[in-house]
Amino acid sequence: MKKFPLVPPLSPILPNRGGARESRPSSILSLSAEISKFRSRGRDAAKLIERRFAVASCGLDGLDLTSGEGIAAGRKAMADKKKVFVKSYGCQMNVYDSERMTEAMAASGYAASESEKDADLVILNTCHIREKATEKIYSELGRLKARKIENPSMRIAVAGCVAQAEGEEIIARQPLVDILVGPQSYHRLPELVAEADKGRKPVATEFLADEKFDRLPASTSPKKSPTAFLTVQEGCDKFCTFCVVPYTRGAEYSRPAARVLAEADRQAKRGVREITLLGQNVNAYRGEGAGGRRWGLARLILAVAEIDGIERIRYTTSHPRDMTEDLIEAHASCGKLMPYLHLPAQSGSDKVLRAMNRKHTAEQYLKIIEKLRVARPDILISGDFIVGFPGETERDFSDTLSLVGEVGYGQSYSFRYSPRPGTPAAEKKQVPPDVASERLHRLQALLKSQQIAAQESMVGRLANVLFERKGRFDGQLAGKSEHLQAVHASCDDSLMGKLAAVRIIRSEPNSLAGEMIN
Ligand code: SAM
Ligand code: SF4
Repeated sequence: MKKFPLVPPLSPILPNRGGARESRPSSILSLSAEISKFRSRGRDAAKLIERRFAVASCGLDGLDLTSGEGIAAGRKAMADKKKVFVKSYGCQMNVYDSERMTEAMAASGYAASESEKDADLVILNTCHIREKATEKIYSELGRLKARKIENPSMRIAVAGCVAQAEGEEIIARQPLVDILVGPQSYHRLPELVAEADKGRKPVATEFLADEKFDRLPASTSPKKSPTAFLTVQEGCDKFCTFCVVPYTRGAEYSRPAARVLAEADRQAKRGVREITLLGQNVNAYRGEGAGGRRWGLARLILAVAEIDGIERIRYTTSHPRDMTEDLIEAHASCGKLMPYLHLPAQSGSDKVLRAMNRKHTAEQYLKIIEKLRVARPDILISGDFIVGFPGETERDFSDTLSLVGEVGYGQSYSFRYSPRPGTPAAEKKQVPPDVASERLHRLQALLKSQQIAAQESMVGRLANVLFERKGRFDGQLAGKSEHLQAVHASCDDSLMGKLAAVRIIRSEPNSLAGEMIN
């Protein structure tokens, strides 16, 4: 197996004193010598690199950060930097966007903060998919009020789908908000913060996905985790009658393949081993490829698999209508494509699927699962379900239970239908809440029993685990199996960021316990 450096060699693009970006040598000590010295004192190399960036941005490039004086200067440089804290809600695309917003602000001299406590800029990256998700934002804003009173120069930005959907209504309801920025305008954040500093309340909610991807800065600093999300497709043209996404994220847009591959390559060089390709309908990907031809997702996956350093590929979220033959075939032919697929079904009733405008039947869905299992017999299927959709009868619901019984899901997400203003289904006669809740309870009991069965079937088997964080107890690391199941094992810290074979010895409520194989 190829060796994976915990901290890859760094040749940073650092801001100079005037703010423009230029390439600089990292220090009078070579970085790797510095890291070994730092580590031999029991310190975390990531901290050294963070300080190295901070002192460089203050023009203190040559400092020895392993000396007492250097450490103090490094700490001061870190403390003097403005800080941004991004809190992410909802889907993985928001997690990806939050990282890109942090990077956009880093280019303007902001350091990332782990909490809002010492942040000069707090960004709430919001989700509008269900009512509960939206209401969470207003209660979070209520909580931030006290902090803003303590520190009036702190800026609060609402980003994401709530900003897009509710616009200035948010400022009317919560005047402490300084900036509103929709999902297609994150590249404008530094300029919006500068406007807010002049006392204005800028609002940016245009739909310009291509411009956003072109203008967001690319990350070059080493990545703390060996896994990364990479958005390849945004927006949706399908207009399911329950869903706000086509209104908040706009029309379908696929990034050109060359840009996606360049970003994947950059991530590999930062130490990433596993990439999850993201899109609201990722398998509807139709990006421009070589010679101006359109590439589908299967072609893109095969090209990402060629990148040195990338060992694992996943993709989410897929729509059953776009599960093409070549994509199913990729599960058989591409060893780096993990045996896991999240394929929302929403319902097992054809009548409800029609009312949802899903454009497929339960039988067509089952046929896709069958083909996937022929292509990759050990594939683990995950799904999304909505219960209590307008017009759903007990008979319709029992069709959903039957479909779930037939598929056997290893993981799942199930929701009570939440009427979203402006969507067609919100206008229909609603299922009484207590009926919907009782159905959800029954569905979740079945799905949970399937998840437990899938985990228990792993006991005694080998799993290849990518360790990505410390475990709950000392001496443990935790990561994910090929099937995206959480696994923890007692092992040496040196395995962090690496793939290793683990024997599964126990199934626990939401994870698997394993032991290392030598
Ligand atoms: N594009 C994916 C697809 O077509 O299946 C789904 C993406 S959507 C952002 C994520 C999930 O949220 C959906 O699969 C659905 O189960 C759930 N969802 C969306 N709108 C909802 C609503 N109004 N009420 C309850 N759940 C909802
Ligand atoms: Fe929403 Fe997915 Fe339907 Fe698009 S396909 S409208 S994102 S549920």
